[in-house]
Amino acid sequence: MSILKVTRLGHPVLRKVTENVSAAELKSAAMQKFIDDMIVTMKEYDGVGLAADQVFESKQIAVLEVAENPRYPDKPKVPLTVLVNPRITPLSEETENDWEGCLSIPDLRGQVPRYSSIRVQALDRNGKKLNFEAHGFHARVIQHEFDHLNGKVYLDRMKDFTTLAFLQEFARYWLK
Ligand SMILES: [Zn+2]
Repeated sequence: MSILKVTRLGHPVLRKVTENVSAAELKSAAMQKFIDDMIVTMKEYDGVGLAADQVFESKQIAVLEVAENPRYPDKPKVPLTVLVNPRITPLSEETENDWEGCLSIPDLRGQVPRYSSIRVQALDRNGKKLNFEAHGFHARVIQHEFDHLNGKVYLDRMKDFTTLAFLQEFARYWLK
């Protein structure tokens, strides 16, 4: 397994809508290795999620996991999940504001409104259909990754840029 290089904001691949993954492509050894590489890369950089275009592959694949994480202490745990060709549907219009960061936008945090509850439909890495509800921080991470797959970053979703802060200032002035 290899740790992959992470794209930073400004690279055009982050602004492209990613391509659907076919069943045959998903089964291939190359794609299965790529998914393993995405998982080790996410863990290496203490991410809670990673989209394929963040490692230069414009494909509809995202991985997420919230375990013990120094970048996001005190967050509810989410098991390791691989989402292929995901679709999301809000379960209500209710949104909540919370902090987000991004491995492609290093050292910054900002408050982003997201749907509180969503339904997620996707394939797992074996091509099996997934259909589940996600709430709160779990729903937030999935919406963040889903946005990446559609060429968007969290800055595009911010409503109040006065909350945008470098990590050091975030810890000093905003973290309660
Ligand atoms: Zn991100």
